[in-house]
Amino acid sequence: MTTRLPKSPDLGLEPESAAVLSTAEVLHATERYVAHNYHPLDIVVAEAHGATVVDTDGREYLDFLAGYSALNFGHGHPVILEAARRQLEQVTLTSRAFHNDQLGPFARELCALVGKEMMLPMNTGAEAVESGIKVARKWGYERKGVRPDEANMIVAAGNFHGRTTTIISFSDDDEAHRNYGPYAPGFRTVPYGDIGAMDAAIDDNTVAVLLEPIQGEAGVVVPPAGYLPEVRSLTHSRNVLFMADEIQSGLGRTGATLACEHEAVVPDIYLLGKALGGGVVPVSAVVADAGILGVLQPGQHGSTFGGNPLACAVGRSVVALLKDGHYQARARSLGSILHTGLEQLRSKGVTAVRGRGLWAGVDIDPGLGTGREVCRRLAGYGILSKETHGSTIRLAPPLVTAEADITRGVDALGSVLQDLAM
Ligand code: PLP
Repeated sequence: MTTRLPKSPDLGLEPESAAVLSTAEVLHATERYVAHNYHPLDIVVAEAHGATVVDTDGREYLDFLAGYSALNFGHGHPVILEAARRQLEQVTLTSRAFHNDQLGPFARELCALVGKEMMLPMNTGAEAVESGIKVARKWGYERKGVRPDEANMIVAAGNFHGRTTTIISFSDDDEAHRNYGPYAPGFRTVPYGDIGAMDAAIDDNTVAVLLEPIQGEAGVVVPPAGYLPEVRSLTHSRNVLFMADEIQSGLGRTGATLACEHEAVVPDIYLLGKALGGGVVPVSAVVADAGILGVLQPGQHGSTFGGNPLACAVGRSVVALLKDGHYQARARSLGSILHTGLEQLRSKGVTAVRGRGLWAGVDIDPGLGTGREVCRRLAGYGILSKETHGSTIRLAPPLVTAEADITRGVDALGSVLQDLAM
């Protein structure tokens, strides 16, 4: 089969862009003209609906990655698409030079969903993290009395918060970090889950602790029970902000609106992204109380696209979908099927299963193959997934996946492990 690019004389497209390209030509163009900063599996997606993805040869797959949780509600959720379509016909971009009629309502609805007073709209996850870092530093200087230019922030080993120069400065992933220096100062890394180390690292100039409540890229690592509450009480007692990066863990994935809820912890700042854009547009946000976000005054931070009406309309539909707890409940029930099934694969070469809700990091016996090899073979069985590191794969199907399809995915992994053992 072939990929048909839009062909409409009305749009005045050049003949070249209206051409029909073969799958091989699409792959060649990607390889030749796109920087090689990713190493995708050789599947060319042409279409997707719900949890199903179709390639250019018409082959169907179950999406067990969901755009790293950006597609929590699946591909083309009708409520999200309808919100986007309606807004496309109204107005899509105003810049923040003017008000638009979607931003205020979106902010109010998102704040109500997560229980905070204010939000700062941005676009990508990394921008939300950068913005959170800026806000925390400003809060430190203006509210806490930290000495000028001496603010520090505590981060965790194994973190993943994005790809900007500041963020990769405190990444301990060699590929993400190497040759991008000089690195931004002001970050102190402590072992994830070690409250004593965090306590020792905090000093009078510490403005915040930045943590993923579950570390996604590290392999869906859940901290020891009680750790997040300990971080909460430590940060309270030392007058340090607790900033939770819920960009991958938040918005339903773990069976709660926010992963922090599982430990009844309320951080000072939530960083949200990915699923907030409904799989349609990049939407991210820093959400906190007015005593924190109130440090920002006109001209001190911004983004041309942040808070644009299309993003806000989509974001509002996402918030609406999360309001009644339906998808959170689905993540819990489907997640329990997923985790029970994965545990049963221990006899076939699964050495560890971590995660919460419909989210799992699965370690495979390295003797059987790399995570990439497992994902390549899973695609052969019609399941799309992604390795994290070494022999660890990550499973995060959309929350709209049918129960039987979760079992299909687990069975496919069983077949892959069996094939690899032969
Ligand atoms: N924070 C976390 C926890 C993430 O998992 C990611 C992306 O995977 C980011 C931040 C960065 O998000 P983005 O790729 O949208 O910049």
